[in-house]
Amino acid sequence: MHQKILILDNSSVLAMRVKVLLELIGCDVDLSHFSDFETSTNTSLYEVAVIAAGVPVNIVRDLKKSGIGHLVFIILAPSSDGGMVKSSFLELHGYLNQAAIIHPFFSNKEIISILEDDFELGERSAVISLPKIMLVDDNAERLASIESSLKGAHIDVIATTQFDTAVGRAALNQIDILISDFNMGDVTGIDVFRQVKQLNANCRCLLITSKPHQSALLEAIQIGVDDVIEKPLDQGVLLQAVYKIWQHVQLQRKNDELVARLQDTVDALIEKDSLIRVIYKNTPDAIVIFKQSGYLVEANDAFINLFSLDGAHIHKTNLFELIGDESAQQVQAGLHELVTQFTHDLSIADHFGHVIPLSGSFTEIDVHGESAYAAIFRNVAHLKHKEEVLEAAKSLLAEQVEIRTAELIKAKDLAEQANRSKSEFLANMSHELRTPMHSILSFSQFGLEKLNLNPIPVEKLTKYLSRIASSGERLLSLLNNLLDLSKLDAGQFPFNPANHNLNQLVRTSIEDMSGVAMEKQIKVHFVPELDPLNVYCDVDQIAQVIRNLLGNAIKFSDPQSEIEITIINKLKRVCLSVKDTGMGIPDDELEQIFNKFVQSSKTNRGAGGTGLGLAICKEFVELHKGQIWAENNTEGGATVHVDLPINENLD
Ligand code: ADP
Repeated sequence: MHQKILILDNSSVLAMRVKVLLELIGCDVDLSHFSDFETSTNTSLYEVAVIAAGVPVNIVRDLKKSGIGHLVFIILAPSSDGGMVKSSFLELHGYLNQAAIIHPFFSNKEIISILEDDFELGERSAVISLPKIMLVDDNAERLASIESSLKGAHIDVIATTQFDTAVGRAALNQIDILISDFNMGDVTGIDVFRQVKQLNANCRCLLITSKPHQSALLEAIQIGVDDVIEKPLDQGVLLQAVYKIWQHVQLQRKNDELVARLQDTVDALIEKDSLIRVIYKNTPDAIVIFKQSGYLVEANDAFINLFSLDGAHIHKTNLFELIGDESAQQVQAGLHELVTQFTHDLSIADHFGHVIPLSGSFTEIDVHGESAYAAIFRNVAHLKHKEEVLEAAKSLLAEQVEIRTAELIKAKDLAEQANRSKSEFLANMSHELRTPMHSILSFSQFGLEKLNLNPIPVEKLTKYLSRIASSGERLLSLLNNLLDLSKLDAGQFPFNPANHNLNQLVRTSIEDMSGVAMEKQIKVHFVPELDPLNVYCDVDQIAQVIRNLLGNAIKFSDPQSEIEITIINKLKRVCLSVKDTGMGIPDDELEQIFNKFVQSSKTNRGAGGTGLGLAICKEFVELHKGQIWAENNTEGGATVHVDLPINENLD
């Protein structure tokens, strides 16, 4: 039966060597790195546990507990300069003080003899096998005497006096040793052996002779007779000769078996080694083995290329010089502290000065009994790049979220503002509708009452009727505004552009508003362009814009103040401005007042109006591909500007 052995490893070369040797002598070996070892493993399966130096004692403690006391331990010592591993080995040895120790400097033969002799590992035949013997002698008396002597030694014997019978029985049985009398009348013992050997190729032979003939002896040796015993026969000598031949046979068999097994192991190792070599040579990761001093022992192609080395002189190259002072110091500190493995990120520059970021992982190994390190350097440029891209995407996303949030907040503010504006509009609208309606009803009521009582003077009646008319007009204009806006919203507002003299247009509009201006004794100055200025526009819309702006200027100015309207020709465009000296507009509301239903916080209480006039102006101006904006004058009051293209194709 194969013994089951557990090796708890710490990436040590010695552990791998012991595994191969154990397999060679026929053991069933599980090798596991201690960091991967599950303490829940059923350790009762194992007879021996081989522990590499560097494996933490607590793992061994658990193992010992679960092994129910029967586990036998062997410790693998580190090389003489094992650093941290050495101290952990001492701790391990202190804990497993009965355990045998295998050192890296032991030869394979020494290790095998420890395993086989001290631990009785490997395949051993439990039953001592005995040979099957064919005994041929024409002297029946001697035959019987030898047969009984062999049987007395528990040896299985086929005895015969006849040559033919011997050959017949040899064909049916596996004969290990033939004992034959040399001289048997017609045939010799050599003839018998020749025949039996043809049927049993591995059969050995012992001849019994009274006086051997020189030439016959020579022939016997040539065909492979192992021994010749002279008569008279001494039973003790015969048994000793049989034992000697049989021991020789067994030794040879064991040897053949070992050689065959060794060959199998060597074949497997060669195959494994070739595979590992191929991977080692072709992997894109740079692999290097270096001594504690930093000098390289071995490096793969990727390492040689990465550091642009001359492959022939790598032994003269020092890793610490290759990776630069700072990294070298950190790596040396890491190696000093190293228990199993550590990683270190570093970067080097290639021929062109490009920085290559590397991630290095370092492991302690022993090379021919000397402590050394293996390092794998992986180019992590693509990972770094991915990280950067991810980081950039993250900040872009954050930026977008921020922008979107700001947009949403703005939209929410606007919606709230619109809601507020709507409420203000409804309040204003009811006021605006109620006031003229109220005065229409009141004055018509007054008139009717007066008519019923006594004849009414014409002036009074005129006054009542004109109040009714002006209130009706105010109502009409309000309704017109609403109508205009809904038409604009629906895109159904009539738009008939043609060439019109802007100077003239302004003058007419001022005249239209002169009544309102006169009521507040406000003077309107017009600074026209000297030359007649033809602008391609819809005369109704632009006239309404001027009237609205002038109306606002009058409405929000003090009585007896002055308003100035200017036109400036900017060749392809014209700028019309209405400037007053009134209450002005809060700076942060200069844009909002062009929105529907919005009134400035200075005027939205009690000043009347609906907040529609400027919104309509804006729509009209935009239909003309123009712009409208308001600003406060430094000396007080506000100016509203309208910028229009002079000859834009608006059709
Ligand atoms: P309204 O019918 O309320 O006048 P508008 O749309 O014409 O509606 O004007 C919107 C608001 O803009 C006004 O209510 C007022 O607060 C402000 N406004 C417009 N023109 C002026 C101005 N010349 N001076 C001060 N405030 C102005």
